[in-house]
Amino acid sequence: MFHKMAVSKTTGAKVKSHFIEEAPSAKEGLAAYAQFVGEQKIEELLKLGEELRGTKVQQVNSARVGGGVAEMLQSLIPLEQALGLDVKWDVIKGDYNFFVFTKTLHNFLQGKPGALDILGSKMYWDTNRANYKMIDHQADVIFIHDPQPAGMITYLPPEVRERQKWIWRCHVQLDTALCLMMDFIRPLIELYDAAVFSSRLCTPRWHIAPFVVLPYIDPFSDKNRRLTDREVKAVLKKFGIEDPSKKPLITLVSRFDPFKGHVYAIEAFKEVRKNLPCQLLLIGGTASDDPENVAIFEELTEKVKGIPDIHLINLPPYNHLDVNAVQWASTIILQPSVKEGFGLAVTEGMWKGKPVIGGNVGGIPSQIADGYNGFLITPGEKGIPEMADRITHLLLHPTLAGVIGSRARETVRERFLITRGLWDELMLIKSVMKNHLYRL
Ligand code: UDP
Repeated sequence: MFHKMAVSKTTGAKVKSHFIEEAPSAKEGLAAYAQFVGEQKIEELLKLGEELRGTKVQQVNSARVGGGVAEMLQSLIPLEQALGLDVKWDVIKGDYNFFVFTKTLHNFLQGKPGALDILGSKMYWDTNRANYKMIDHQADVIFIHDPQPAGMITYLPPEVRERQKWIWRCHVQLDTALCLMMDFIRPLIELYDAAVFSSRLCTPRWHIAPFVVLPYIDPFSDKNRRLTDREVKAVLKKFGIEDPSKKPLITLVSRFDPFKGHVYAIEAFKEVRKNLPCQLLLIGGTASDDPENVAIFEELTEKVKGIPDIHLINLPPYNHLDVNAVQWASTIILQPSVKEGFGLAVTEGMWKGKPVIGGNVGGIPSQIADGYNGFLITPGEKGIPEMADRITHLLLHPTLAGVIGSRARETVRERFLITRGLWDELMLIKSVMKNHLYRL
């Protein structure tokens, strides 16, 4: 199975010409990445792909667009297909109340105190049962992303369960100290063959074979490809953002979510702006599985009222080019999260050669070495003066900002491009297929 369109989108113009005639070979599909990672890595990937040719894989998550999971799957799946794996991607359906419940669950898993309500939990199981029919009994490996579809495994007939490998891919920063929540998720995840986490620091000691796969970005996606000055300027104009060469632009790209630290960014910006001209851009949208967006956006709208030089923008879905353009245009990128599974928005900013100031939580310290390729700050209110201090320092020392930014780009080139993610996932598939699983 091969999706021509998807591959052309991933690798950009070079592959587009294949679309009309014939699908590119795996070699052609991957060749463009050699400019970043070298020919040898591509050869190794092709060899590994050859070993796994024909393996049937099903990926299941809860949103086709919006947020880091969809972001990675959009680019990963076409490359897996190009290598000859038979991969399909399905998205579970649920009503508004299901996603309110799963967002609450998500927040609890990241450490927000509270207890699940019984009605919501019934809805969780009903929705998982209703979606279960999408599971392909012929698949060799099933990847379930995050807690929303995790319950489907319980509806699987034993003979199919025996044949298939089920992998739970966790993208949130689990707070395993909260027993109440762990009573819900832990027994469920221990039904799986393996679980994958975004950082070793966030890997719980459960009775499950654990793997760590650090997330990654696709340098050819609309989110990350190099844009022309004209494209960037057009986006700035559309949003009414002043020329960053005259008034430096400090940007936070994120879903409007309580853990992302928007309020801290606003406070730090207010401090900096007392002494230096600059503008703050808070830009993001929502994911279809995240119903909190509207309320948080309204709160922020109130909060920024009357503060000059703040742009608060709620984007429609499919906003990759807009996000890409503002990241390229930024002087500094902020990600002051208080919890963060990994933080792809950090990776994206670093790839664009920007100094990123991020909360010292979850997957962010896996990307930023404080003072070398970015800055880490204390999460939460305590981090506000640190953030203001680092922003001021970078604005006053543009040469240093440039050096930090180029180290940031190099970090991403070495460790966080999709070719490495593809390699990790293929190795994971190989391990589970061969039963090389060691439960803790
Ligand atoms: N994103 C986007 N549009 C938005 C908000 C976020 O495309 O309006 C993207 C962002 O560029 C990044 C991903 O969604 O690729 C967010 O991933 P991250 O790991 O930073 O956070 P998550 O949303 O998964 O918690």
